[in-house]
Amino acid sequence: MGLIRLIKSKYSSKSPYLKEIIRAYITRNEGTDKKSYPNVINLLANDICNSKCTMCNIWEQKLDFEITPIELTELLKDPLFGEVTGVGITGGEPTMRDDLPELYKACCESLPKLGGMSIITNAIKDEHVIEQIEKVNEVLSGYGKDFSVMVSLDGYGDVHDKHRGREGNFESALKVINHIRHNTNIPLAIGCTITKSNVYEVDALLDWMIEEKLYGRFRVGEFITRLYNNELLDEIRNFNEDETYHLSCFFHRLRYDYETSPMFKRTYDSIISVLNGGSRTIGCPYHEDGVVLDSKGQLLYCAPKSKELGSTLKVSARSIYDQNLDERSRIKSENCDTCVHDYHAPPTIEEYRPIINRWKWNALLSLKISKYTVPFFKRGKIADSVSNEKSVLIVGWYGTETVGDKAILASIIEDYKAIDKKTNIIIASLNPFITVRTMKELDMKAKVIAFYSREFVTYASNVDEVVMGGGPLMEMDALNIPLNAFLLAKKNGKKTIVYGCGIGPIFNQKYEKVVKKILSLADVIKLRDSKSVSLANKLVPNKSVSLNGDPAYNYVINQSTHFKAEKKDKILACFLRDWSYEYARDLSQEEFEKQKKDFETNLANGIKKVCQKRGLKPKFYSMHTFHIGGDDRVFYRRFLSEHFQGIEYDFEKRPSTVDMVLEGMVSSEVNLCMRFHSVLFAQTLETEFYAIDYTGGGKIKALLDDHNNLDLMYSLQDVAKDQSFCFK
Ligand code: SF4
Repeated sequence: MGLIRLIKSKYSSKSPYLKEIIRAYITRNEGTDKKSYPNVINLLANDICNSKCTMCNIWEQKLDFEITPIELTELLKDPLFGEVTGVGITGGEPTMRDDLPELYKACCESLPKLGGMSIITNAIKDEHVIEQIEKVNEVLSGYGKDFSVMVSLDGYGDVHDKHRGREGNFESALKVINHIRHNTNIPLAIGCTITKSNVYEVDALLDWMIEEKLYGRFRVGEFITRLYNNELLDEIRNFNEDETYHLSCFFHRLRYDYETSPMFKRTYDSIISVLNGGSRTIGCPYHEDGVVLDSKGQLLYCAPKSKELGSTLKVSARSIYDQNLDERSRIKSENCDTCVHDYHAPPTIEEYRPIINRWKWNALLSLKISKYTVPFFKRGKIADSVSNEKSVLIVGWYGTETVGDKAILASIIEDYKAIDKKTNIIIASLNPFITVRTMKELDMKAKVIAFYSREFVTYASNVDEVVMGGGPLMEMDALNIPLNAFLLAKKNGKKTIVYGCGIGPIFNQKYEKVVKKILSLADVIKLRDSKSVSLANKLVPNKSVSLNGDPAYNYVINQSTHFKAEKKDKILACFLRDWSYEYARDLSQEEFEKQKKDFETNLANGIKKVCQKRGLKPKFYSMHTFHIGGDDRVFYRRFLSEHFQGIEYDFEKRPSTVDMVLEGMVSSEVNLCMRFHSVLFAQTLETEFYAIDYTGGGKIKALLDDHNNLDLMYSLQDVAKDQSFCFK
């Protein structure tokens, strides 16, 4: 009952989640093998296409027999289709059939429970496509049925044209999109298929869709028998480690920042799982609710993996369906677990169990509640504890780490390993897949656990030391991470260390109290800068606080021996970031927008001028490539499209790593640094660099001041004011 109350308090009765959970609970004992009949048909209008997509070979097919509207009208009267409420028409390219509206009419005439229909089009022949859509809409309106359109777009501009093998397709698709949204009431969505070729271009498409207020869905290209693509091994699901990681971050962004439907959020969770070698976590309508009817009248259980079951023109569809259930069982046992296709069924209670579990731990470890819950947590026992070696749990904002945070983490681990290389390192992460990747990049070993989990409580209670590793103890709710880790450690008599953190900014007393509590629970406090030390001394005057510098410094020093460039490239390496309102609290929103615009314009001109003067090409690197914390590539795409049209530049689109940044810095002639740790890296590597202080005299100024490098600093406000700004 307690859990239900918790869910209710978090998700009101109107929440789709709560309704879904209740439905899933009620239907939990209904097996998927019961004899039920489809309520959705995927109708393939034809088997030819005027695209030449990289992930499909239908375009090689020649026009062959196609079921007629009269034949379709007849066969849809079969009892198999008596419960059908929705029909999606695809192809090939369905609009290539001149009698397409007649196919829609056939469905309306023969399916007694039909509610709505849809179409997916490549929109290559824009005028013809618009004409066809208008006609279909008229047919469906006449029958009082819903209609929706999905237009395929796999990238912005040329990217789409290359992916679809048709020059001008982006423009033609845009004409169709604009016609539908400006001249009709037909619901519209964009559909993007991701393959090896467009993997690094999908974010740009999403940015554009957000700007254009277009809704769309993203799918990973799958081997689909009816698309004749089983041989396209180079293109389909052939992602290397970097690409897989990049896509996982992208689907995470879609899931948390873009998609609002719980159903599609679950689909994106499932895609992340399959991409990373896990199982499909979402059900599929083709297990019982859907069926495929191809353009020759053949019935299939599902488009990707089913064999043709038989011709509905010759034999009753229902008997074909009933007599081939072995094929459906085969698909389920052989294919479904790893199928990444974006079909989705309502969730089962099993699927919700981990979600409910996470909600529970989110609540139990929240800043508001944990002071009441932590005293009651049982210590537990570490399940896989086999050695008596020292164990250290590192906590922080891991799971959202920037390149700077990665260097901090590496440095802390190196410090522990230098004392005893057998030390077991455990890292609590908000998004374990991010931190697992970080450890791979750093070539270090650590166990990564989820912060919001029972496992975290067990480790924090049992390890020898708990370390708050790097990052600022500042005004934010995520202070619950070090607070809970320290509360659990102290409750069980373990050592606690604040290691290389900054203190502040803190404006609100509530957060000041939490920071004070964390510091008072710490046995050792080592801070990264003198300003933080004096703040800590005020908060906990009886504690010993030492100044140890930013831990990232040591790691960069150690790594720098591997990155000595023989020859500098004629490159200005830029490590910029978006300037957000949190750094301009003294301005009104309007003043902030103006200052930001002026800053970016003058900065862009400054970059162009210095490049021209010194014969350099700008290259844009990211210090952070995950959407939580601000993916720098999102900023760059906007900045570059606004200010660098027609200018030669390089833009690193891959997920950033410490090595990538260090290599970029030492091999370029000059570095332009804005992200805090890019300044620290460039300074530590003793490169030539310019720094932009966006913190209003905060941490960047403090860092440069400590090293007598203030003459290399340009304040954001000064750049914004100076229309003729140029780097010295
Ligand atoms: S193979 Fe994929 S599309 Fe086919 S039934 Fe399984 S999950 Fe659904």
